Amino acid sequence: MIAVCVSGAAGRMGRAVVGAVESQADMRVAASVDPALGPGEGVYADLGAALAGADPDVLVDFTRPEAVFANAGAALAAGVHAVVGTTGLTPEQVEELRALAEAGAANAVIAPNFAVGAVLMMRFAAEASRHMPRAEIVELHHDGKLDAPSGTALRTAGLMEGEVPIHSVRLPGLVAHQEVILGGVGETLTIRHDSLSRESFMPGVIMAVRAVADRPGLTVGLEPILFAD
Ligand code: NAP
Repeated sequence: MIAVCVSGAAGRMGRAVVGAVESQADMRVAASVDPALGPGEGVYADLGAALAGADPDVLVDFTRPEAVFANAGAALAAGVHAVVGTTGLTPEQVEELRALAEAGAANAVIAPNFAVGAVLMMRFAAEASRHMPRAEIVELHHDGKLDAPSGTALRTAGLMEGEVPIHSVRLPGLVAHQEVILGGVGETLTIRHDSLSRESFMPGVIMAVRAVADRPGLTVGLEPILFAD
């Protein structure tokens, strides 16, 4: 039984993670952490108290850009594997977490997008960019999203050839959507992914919770877990 600590448990993603973990036969929610939650059985306002009190195997973090680095660092320092979905980590912070994971007893998976379709979109966009000369990304998210451009758009651009400008749209009603538009001679190619609900991220999160103990150091993106090659 994998004991999971969910940080950001009162948030939009955290609530979905709590439900997804509870519906698996091989894992359980050992601790829910969120400043919005009062102290109670398995419920903590502070991650340090949860790591010490609930003895989890894996932390799943969907909090805020300003909280995620300290949370993931605290888990790794406590020997707890970290599955990080919160976006907004700087490249330097990712490298610091990599060093912590490589030096210590716990591993980390950091993925800007846990939706399987989004991972496929990034892969197809990377492949297409080798054959078409120009591309731009339009990413569209709900208006509660704190970071722009999205972590997914930054990662997609990083995987593609050449300079890829990113345009960010924030509107109520949206969840998480991205179009990669490639332009060639007299033709365009559009690759589009839509997360229609937060459930779309759960199979990837659950996959990462199961995989993280067997992946030494830091794994960036769901790709190495999803694709054997
Ligand atoms: P949200 O609804 O604002 O939820 C975040 C929750 O975390 C809030 O309840 C917040 O409480 C809490 N929190 C803040 N600091 C904390 C701390 N130090 N310890 C524990 N909990 C803390 O946000 P969301 O829509 O769920 O998104 C969360 C993150 O996931 C964002 O970075 C988003 O970009 C990312 N995301 C990633 C994926 C993916 O597939 N990787 C998919 C969707 C979203 P307060 O409101 O009191 O601060």
